[in-house]
Amino acid sequence: MNEAATRRALVRYSHLMHALGWVANHDGNLSCRIADDRIVCTPTAFSKADVTTDDLLVVDGAGQKLAGAHRPFGELPLHLSVYAARPKVSAVVHTHSPYATAFGATGRPLPHPFLPEAVVSLGAYIPTVALTAPGAPAVHALRPFLRTCDAVLIAGNGVLTFGPDLETAWLRAELVEHLCKIALLAAPLGGVTPLPEEMVKTLVERRAAAGLAAPDEGKPPEALGVAAEREHLATAATRSALKGLSGADAKRAAKLSREASARLVKG
Ligand SMILES: [Zn+2]
Repeated sequence: MNEAATRRALVRYSHLMHALGWVANHDGNLSCRIADDRIVCTPTAFSKADVTTDDLLVVDGAGQKLAGAHRPFGELPLHLSVYAARPKVSAVVHTHSPYATAFGATGRPLPHPFLPEAVVSLGAYIPTVALTAPGAPAVHALRPFLRTCDAVLIAGNGVLTFGPDLETAWLRAELVEHLCKIALLAAPLGGVTPLPEEMVKTLVERRAAAGLAAPDEGKPPEALGVAAEREHLATAATRSALKGLSGADAKRAAKLSREASARLVKG
């Protein structure tokens, strides 16, 4: 999708997010990676009902503004950490949709999986990321989950989903909200019934066969913590080294850093 079409899609989903009641005030944010180191995103301090294609801005992978009259939103580092960890992800959606945020606000895990189709679409694991202060602590808390799934609830916040394109990321946010709504409706009836383990296993295999699985899906996030931390430190070290470089050298160093980081996370 070219930049003009991406801008139109971002505005359409921004307005839809507001129309559905998934955000209030300046909540929620959307971004799309349209090229290596080029991300189009919504501006801060805007109702999602009012965003136009001209209000969107372009940032690089480090969050530096490349184009646009407004400022990026404060949760942009969460989006950037997704893009850094997931080369095939091209879109990130963050909403405060009420049912998903109800789980986030209570810090409770969603009792997923309880619907077979949702396992194929989202995998068997939708974690709730721990409550932290915004900014770097939030990125740190999210990092262990980035390669294990495509949707997370965030304690004290809403839902964050990602995908190979904006529509997929959006549909994942929609499905998480739907699951949270059903789980809450089922609560006074005795709660949802978890799917049998054997069924979940078969569904997860079907998901993997369809090429839908996240890169490290199924691995416990704790086991990924060390690699994720090493990747973070490597990136931070390179970033500070990059400050002394400029132009083509900086670009080449950044590319090498991303490749090295990817290898570290895998290894
Ligand atoms: Zn938020």
